[in-house]
Amino acid sequence: MASITIALSKGRIFDDTAPLLKAAGVVALDDPETSRKLILATNRDNVRLIIVRASDVPTYVQYGAADMGIAGKDVLLEHGGSGLYQPLDLHIARCRMMVAVRDDFDYESAVRRGARLRVATKYLHTAREHFAEKGMHVDLIKLYGSMELAPLVGLAEAIVDLVSSGNTLKANHLKAVEEIMPISARLIINQAALKLKRTTIQPMLDAFSAAIAQCE
Ligand code: ATP
Ligand code: MG
Repeated sequence: MASITIALSKGRIFDDTAPLLKAAGVVALDDPETSRKLILATNRDNVRLIIVRASDVPTYVQYGAADMGIAGKDVLLEHGGSGLYQPLDLHIARCRMMVAVRDDFDYESAVRRGARLRVATKYLHTAREHFAEKGMHVDLIKLYGSMELAPLVGLAEAIVDLVSSGNTLKANHLKAVEEIMPISARLIINQAALKLKRTTIQPMLDAFSAAIAQCE
């Protein structure tokens, strides 16, 4: 049976994926939160996991350094998805892509006036599409994290970020004003690997599908 490499990020993606992997008969021999290893062996001789940054998962799979991976829709939209087969929404790591502003900022009125807003975000592509669709002119400012800070110190009027409970927004006196889209993590597979290693990959795909169906 062909050997396969699965790319994952630690944190919520790994935590939410572990039960799905288990349903497919795959258990990591180390915990990525405590181990410094970037390549994790599993109970299966022919399956290994690699631990990479969330935004790097599609890149490893696109180039075939990993045969499959799990990445948020947010990350896939920024990456573009080229070379990737995306057969399955795993319904894990769910949150929403939102526009947020300071809680004393009148977003509706700014939109009505056609004000040109500065928007800070890690998600340039998604943000550009969203505001273009609304016919709004915005100046996008690329950040790599902690977007919540930007409106508080005058870097931008608005941010585009992922929101789940809304507690981080609240703690920073921000409010969500627009939902761009719901986000969840997807299984991604290298297109060539799917053809060449079908006998290994297809049963995992089926086990994932069955595990998801059971949770729904
Ligand atoms: P890094 O922490 O390495 O900078 P990251 O912030 O993208 O990268 P995570 O915070 O682990 O990494 O997020 C990984 C994925 O989990 C995201 O791409 C997204 O799909 C999902 N995610 C992010 N924030 C939330 C959230 N608040 N609730 C649920 N899912 C989320
Ligand atoms: Mg993070």
